[in-house]
Amino acid sequence: MAKKHIHIIGGGLAGLAAAVSLSQRSDAQVILYESSPSLGGRARSFYDANLDRTIDNGNHLILSGNDAVFKYLNLIDATNSLTGSGYPLFPFVDLEEGKRWDLLLSKGRFPWWLFFAKHRVPDFKFPELLALWKLLKADTQKTVADCLVNGQLSRRLLQPFAVSALNTSCDAGSALLMGSVVRQSLMKGGKGCIPYFPKIGLSESFVQPAVSLIALQGGIINTKSRLSELHVQDGKIDYFIMNNNKIDVGPEDTVILALSAHVAEQILGAVCPKVKVPNQFESILNLHYAVDPNLRIKGSIDKAKFVGVIGGISEWIFVRPGVISITVSAANRFTGCQHENLASLIWQEVCEVLSPVIETPLPQAIPNHRLLWEKRASFVATVEQNHRRPSCYTPYQNLFLAGDWVATGLPATIEGAIRSGFGAAEAVFSSKIV
Ligand SMILES: Cc1cc2nc3c(=O)[nH]c(=O)nc-3n(C[C@H](O)[C@H](O)[C@H](O)COP(=O)(O)OP(=O)(O)OC[C@H]3O[C@@H](n4cnc5c(N)ncnc54)[C@H](O)[C@@H]3O)c2cc1C
Repeated sequence: MAKKHIHIIGGGLAGLAAAVSLSQRSDAQVILYESSPSLGGRARSFYDANLDRTIDNGNHLILSGNDAVFKYLNLIDATNSLTGSGYPLFPFVDLEEGKRWDLLLSKGRFPWWLFFAKHRVPDFKFPELLALWKLLKADTQKTVADCLVNGQLSRRLLQPFAVSALNTSCDAGSALLMGSVVRQSLMKGGKGCIPYFPKIGLSESFVQPAVSLIALQGGIINTKSRLSELHVQDGKIDYFIMNNNKIDVGPEDTVILALSAHVAEQILGAVCPKVKVPNQFESILNLHYAVDPNLRIKGSIDKAKFVGVIGGISEWIFVRPGVISITVSAANRFTGCQHENLASLIWQEVCEVLSPVIETPLPQAIPNHRLLWEKRASFVATVEQNHRRPSCYTPYQNLFLAGDWVATGLPATIEGAIRSGFGAAEAVFSSKIV
């Protein structure tokens, strides 16, 4: 049987998920193209010679309620490459108000944790839970801020949760998208909120096992392959230009564009200008400090290997072997700041947060570090940008879209990217035209 060629362009997690899924089929020949030398896109790890450590492009946290992520990890046999405390445990420090607590959700759907002072957000009042109901019921026009209720539940949990999940301020962030995140996490109970992250790095968990499986299933992977143009003939893509070479797309063949949103907008603009794509972006700042690999932390932060920070610049501090990494979401607001000032202020916060739970004091002098500022970490999850997200279908019956910016109902996350990749893979074999 002649195989249908499926050209998947973009080797981030959306493209990899589509490739893993389609390369299983005996009637499909997958060819994956990626412009950079390595795969993984925004979710990759690399060796940093200056730090002499392997670091993630950005710290990534996954929750057990991310069904598409675990389906993908299961397919590529990499579920065991993740680690975590195994509990829905989130240690927090409030630097402004000098408080420390451990949010520990009860595993089942009924939120027993709300009735235990030592498991919940300190100083929270029950009427504040109305915010969750408002998020779940929000219409397409509401922002997260429209739904929040003043109080510590918002300040110490819902706001930081929303800013991390949407990578957008609460004033601008879409309540509809945040409602979806709440539905696939808190509403599933603690069972859906167990945090996981890679034992070694993002590439070791999400990329390398996928690459091996795609190759094993007969898929072809071409790195350093940059798409510059799609060409249309008779309502179909008939060829595309890759590294100045013309690649023919046969009558039975298909193209999945799994590019970053800003590149997809340029490429699609030439062939289907009516398809809108998110075009405003937020950045994420990550700072990786090289520390003693034998550093010992005590208590819940040791169990969780991360801590949430309220009232500082840092939002999450991850403690990995030999590296302390900090994440700041929606970081466009810091664009004017000197990098060294940020690195120094954030290190002071790290010392303040970790000193009470660390066996050997951290050095006061700022350690060797790497600042990574991903300028287009995600589209801004506003009401307006959410309306610009296209479905995976295009006006051409052999062209499909994937990427965290496609309309998945979720913000730009690994779950959204993988869901879109699987979605495009399914659509290829159930074609329809929009
Ligand atoms: C710092 C940071 C922290 C994050 N933290 C989290 C988190 O904690 N939890 C979470 O769930 N999500 C998180 N995310 C979001 C998550 O990483 C993304 O949603 C996901 O990786 C997007 O995958 P993608 O395949 O849609 O896009 P991308 O990863 O952008 O993949 C697109 C690929 O297309 C390639 N490409 C571009 N142009 C061309 C071209 N012309 N030809 C060929 N190839 C091309 C790119 O090189 C890239 O590899 C974070 C993102 C960042 C940046």
